Amino acid sequence: MDPSSLSSFLNQQGYPAYRYRQILKNYLSARPASFLEMTDLPKPLRHQLDSNFKLSSLSLSQLQPSQGAVKAKLQLSDGQMIESVLMDYDQWYSVCLSTQVGCPLGCRFCATGQMGFIRKLTAEEIIDQVHFWNNYLYQQSPESSSKVDRLVFMGMGEPFLNWSNLILALDFIRSPQGWFVGQRKISISTAGIIPQIENFTNLDTQINLAVSLHSLNQSVRSEIMPISRQYPLDDLLSVCHQYTQKTRRQLFFEYALIRGVNDRPSDLSLLIKLLKSNHLFFLNLIPLNLTSHGMLPSLPETVNLFTQSLSKLGLNYSLRRSFGSDIQAACGQLIVNPKLPV
Ligand code: SAH
Ligand code: SF4
Repeated sequence: MDPSSLSSFLNQQGYPAYRYRQILKNYLSARPASFLEMTDLPKPLRHQLDSNFKLSSLSLSQLQPSQGAVKAKLQLSDGQMIESVLMDYDQWYSVCLSTQVGCPLGCRFCATGQMGFIRKLTAEEIIDQVHFWNNYLYQQSPESSSKVDRLVFMGMGEPFLNWSNLILALDFIRSPQGWFVGQRKISISTAGIIPQIENFTNLDTQINLAVSLHSLNQSVRSEIMPISRQYPLDDLLSVCHQYTQKTRRQLFFEYALIRGVNDRPSDLSLLIKLLKSNHLFFLNLIPLNLTSHGMLPSLPETVNLFTQSLSKLGLNYSLRRSFGSDIQAACGQLIVNPKLPV
């Protein structure tokens, strides 16, 4: 649903302001499946809304549950498809949101990158993913009040290349008029779009920032992440230092361990040096999820060497648990066939 066009429509039609609040409440609860089910509204308004608006810009095309994660393939109004993933962490539900159909950055290890770029999502399409999962949780168990608690912008696409819609969506998600999700429960991951990292720093929010690093060697990084040619590693690391200096917040680096590519002893030394250089840097080691790119995850003994060395030195890192790789729903595995019939 697009809250601002709904609000202007109601204004133009002369409805009192509380009607907007009622509709918004229904949308946020994600209980009614359509405007027609909003029984607290007068019938003529329900019909008027039904013929003029979409409660959600997304329609479910396919749902794939697995241990701890559910992946939804969602169809947009123009027939394009995106994927969105719900993760069950026992204590909370987290959703991995897409911001673009495909991605223009073409990282070699990422399935989304390999499918190319189709378009950016609108703010409405971004917030409707949260609505979709809240509705899903409601349908799974109407008695419980389970809701999406955390959001990670780590689905398809590069969030910082859809800046204005990302900001619009975040404003809604965080606001008391929206879901009011705590800023610390939101994380955004970027492949390293330097000007937007600077803009993000200046926003001065408490939203978590993650930077996909994957190598500390400029030529290796450029090979696996072509964006590194435009925004070189040295410049990237210097805006990362600026971020922590200005915000005094932790910055998370994502590092998927790829066999023979970024898991050599020299890579480990560079990681150690990086973490020692700034106590607000935090490293998330991720086991590489398999896609069709032919790269392989590091061997278990290499992963152990990395984790043991970092632990011994008391450095800030974690070895991430990978969700949904059995249903191709893990990081970097989100892909839809752009030629699917609409
Ligand atoms: N475009 C943004 C956010 C979406 S990708 C970014 O690149 O940061 C979300 C995360 O998945 C990123 O950290 C990305 O590097 C990681 N990723 C992509 N492909 C992966 C793979 N095959 N295995 C593990 N992580 C992967
Ligand atoms: Fe795009 Fe992120 Fe995938 Fe790179 S890793 S291609 S930036 S979605």
